Amino acid sequence: RTAIVLFTRDLRTHDNPALASACANAETVVPLFVLDPKLQQLSPNRARFLHQSLADLRESLRARGGDLVVREGDPVAETIRLAGEVEADGVALTQDVSAYARRREQQLQEECERHRISLKLFPGTNILSPGDVRPGGGGAYYKVFSPYYRSWESAKWRDEVATPRKITLPPDVNVGNLPAPPAGESPDAVDGGETEGRRRLKTWLGHLGPYDELHDDMPADGTSRLSAYLRFGCLSPLAVANAAREKNGPGSAAFVRQLCWRDFYYQVTYSFPRISTTAYRESGDREWRNDPDALQHWKDGLTGVPVVDAGMRQLMAEGWMHNRARLITAAFLTKHLDLDWREGVKWFFRWLNDGDVANNSGNWQWVAGTGNDTKPYRRFNPIRQGERFDPDGEYVRRYVPELKSVRGKAVHQPWRLPDTVRSGLDYPGPLESHRDEAVWLRP
Ligand code: FAD
Repeated sequence: RTAIVLFTRDLRTHDNPALASACANAETVVPLFVLDPKLQQLSPNRARFLHQSLADLRESLRARGGDLVVREGDPVAETIRLAGEVEADGVALTQDVSAYARRREQQLQEECERHRISLKLFPGTNILSPGDVRPGGGGAYYKVFSPYYRSWESAKWRDEVATPRKITLPPDVNVGNLPAPPAGESPDAVDGGETEGRRRLKTWLGHLGPYDELHDDMPADGTSRLSAYLRFGCLSPLAVANAAREKNGPGSAAFVRQLCWRDFYYQVTYSFPRISTTAYRESGDREWRNDPDALQHWKDGLTGVPVVDAGMRQLMAEGWMHNRARLITAAFLTKHLDLDWREGVKWFFRWLNDGDVANNSGNWQWVAGTGNDTKPYRRFNPIRQGERFDPDGEYVRRYVPELKSVRGKAVHQPWRLPDTVRSGLDYPGPLESHRDEAVWLRP
């Protein structure tokens, strides 16, 4: 018996139920990744991360006697074609939630049926898959985080599966090559791959203790930075959560709770697939202003509000942004500049290595006040946020070198510096917001 394991965004050998099951039940196994032409729409940063992750996966599979077969084209057609070539009778696939992934699953199901191949779907993208816990009263999914978290935390999670020791490829499979590695756009972005992800996880577990106190502290950089590895499935979210739970303590609990937010938005997206373009709560979707100039300043990190600019520049430099900075910059775009959250979704999506439909759009809608679990009138004053979460201005100076010479928290309001000092800084004055409340921006 021969099984194909169609990899998508589960680019790992550890705790991969689809791979483990195929290896346990078939004599020969063909790990496959199809370079879908749609992947050309992937941002340069994520294309680079994906490529590195595939190269690493191939090495890990080779170390176990297998390989990664790489094909180009439509994933469904290529899987069926390969199944014909190697006479496979089964295909294993990790389930995913996006509308695109679910259409692909559906098409694969139909084609497999037509060709009398059995398709098996496996969990692994999340800790709990959409639908694993449901609200009482017959709701299909949770719209509010707190009750979801309570059910999620007390639910029985599946057991982790072992990494296959040996993978036997059928003879004479044409494995195909990976294309040349893409360059990416962010000079300081992390490298992709399961090996790198697991190395970082190990280091992180040693720093997890004070996470509950440090996760909002922007200069401390006290978060895991594992998001991109989770995004591409280089790390199993279940394995990450289990490893963190073993550490016990408030840091571990706070960290596992963040992983729950990830599952939460996935189960929302499963039921509300238009999340990146359509307001969940239509009443929160205002007439947004059209101001291309302000939008461009925000994108470039040149709003003149230092903590906002620091976040936006971190995004471009690292393909990642601290969560607190994501909140501040997103609130600045939507609540102060009054510009459409969809513009923010697109810009973040272009740069973030961890960018994904569910988490990016879910969080943007949360900030903009259009989301399912949101407080529409919540506002963030970026100056107060900066002074609270970057009290000495270290984070700002790290990413806005024009302000390097300004000491302490004064860096958050350069417009209040004496004229003689201010005129020596090559840094713009604050972007005027149209809102009256924005008087805090004025000198
Ligand atoms: P940690 O603090 O170490 O958290 C551990 C893990 O929990 C993260 O890796 C992530 O998988 C998950 N997590 C943490 N916070 C959230 C959250 N608020 N929502 C969902 N999952 C969370 N996260 C993404 O993974 N992809 C995105 O595209 C994305 N876009 C965002 C856009 C905006 C406007 C905002 C406010 C937040 C966004 N987030 C997104 C959530 C969060 O900012 C990142 O997950 C986090 O900063 C990643 O860094 P970390 O791995 O060090 O997180």
